[in-house]
Amino acid sequence: MTDAQHHDVDVLIVGAGPTGLYAGYYAGFRGLRIAIADMLELPGGQITALYPEKKIFDVAGFPEVLGRELVDRLVKQVEPFNPIWILGTRVDGLARNDERWDVTLSSGATVTTTIVVITGGIGTFEPRALPVGREYEGRGLIYYVPQPQALAGKRVVIVGGGDSAFDWALALEPICPSVALVHRRDAFRAHEHTIDLVTNSSTKIITNAEVTGISGEDNLTSVEITTKSGEVINHEADVVVAALGFVAHLGPLAEWGLEMSKRTIITDSSMRTNLPGVFAAGDITEYPGKVRLISVGFGEAALAVNNAMTVIDPTKSAFPGHSSENS
Ligand SMILES: Cc1cc2nc3c(=O)[nH]c(=O)nc-3n(C[C@H](O)[C@H](O)[C@H](O)COP(=O)(O)OP(=O)(O)OC[C@H]3O[C@@H](n4cnc5c(N)ncnc54)[C@H](O)[C@@H]3O)c2cc1C
Repeated sequence: MTDAQHHDVDVLIVGAGPTGLYAGYYAGFRGLRIAIADMLELPGGQITALYPEKKIFDVAGFPEVLGRELVDRLVKQVEPFNPIWILGTRVDGLARNDERWDVTLSSGATVTTTIVVITGGIGTFEPRALPVGREYEGRGLIYYVPQPQALAGKRVVIVGGGDSAFDWALALEPICPSVALVHRRDAFRAHEHTIDLVTNSSTKIITNAEVTGISGEDNLTSVEITTKSGEVINHEADVVVAALGFVAHLGPLAEWGLEMSKRTIITDSSMRTNLPGVFAAGDITEYPGKVRLISVGFGEAALAVNNAMTVIDPTKSAFPGHSSENS
């Protein structure tokens, strides 16, 4: 993220999920100046927040790919075009300024842009907080694990009983001296096979229990776990991963004057919305026959950006030419 308070670009992409990242690539390929904003601190949207350790089997050209690897590759594909990354920041408002848009961000910074491509997915995510220990955010309490290797050598407590909790336990167990998984029930919501793998690993599974305290002088060093029967366990740890899920809100874009249907934005077949210069792509769009998949988002991103090109420069064609001709 840059510190500058104002950015002037051709295209602002709202949402750095897979669709937004790929839209960034196409905008770069068309020679446009790009900013990519996301509320999350890291790119990848739902993949990063909800299933970075899952294999995805239906992305063209990849018989299988780990969620986080797909995100890494999408970031690598857009990086050569030097996008301005505006991460950890919500896009709050759009105001028409002549033929362009003035955009306000939650950081107080602003962006002026000719085109806005909304790739906001299911909206902004907020991690469900643990009832205790929020003061340890950034000092050991985290909500997702985009790069398990970053936690190598740490003693980890994972809180939760869903897919993310189990996927992360599986990824961390071989590289961490201790991994404990704490869940308030004794039934889990994760894939059976993953539960079996974790159960048969060295991960300590503590059920019918909750984290009731976090302590440590500077950084987190100990976690208090209380079982339903009243037993209190003080467990040494360096990191607590609160994998309690995320709450998605449509957020401010509901107020931008877009034609919407429930929580989605109506587009035409070139991904135009009802607002001039505003396009949308990915999970957030709605039109007859819509299917919410990564591969569909990629196609829509290409449509949105290449049609936006004709708004920026009416002498240009929507067809970008073949990228292979540049090799
Ligand atoms: C568990 C799970 C498994 C899945 N498995 C598959 C699969 O195998 N194959 C497949 O094709 N699909 C799968 N999907 C669906 C796939 O993840 C989505 O289709 C895809 O993520 C949509 O991408 P997107 O970029 O459109 O939106 P998202 O990934 O939702 O990204 C949107 C981003 O926009 C940001 N945002 C929204 N509003 C704002 C704002 N105002 N300001 C700043 N940022 C904002 C959000 O923070 C978010 O990061 C799965 C989904 C889940 C939950």
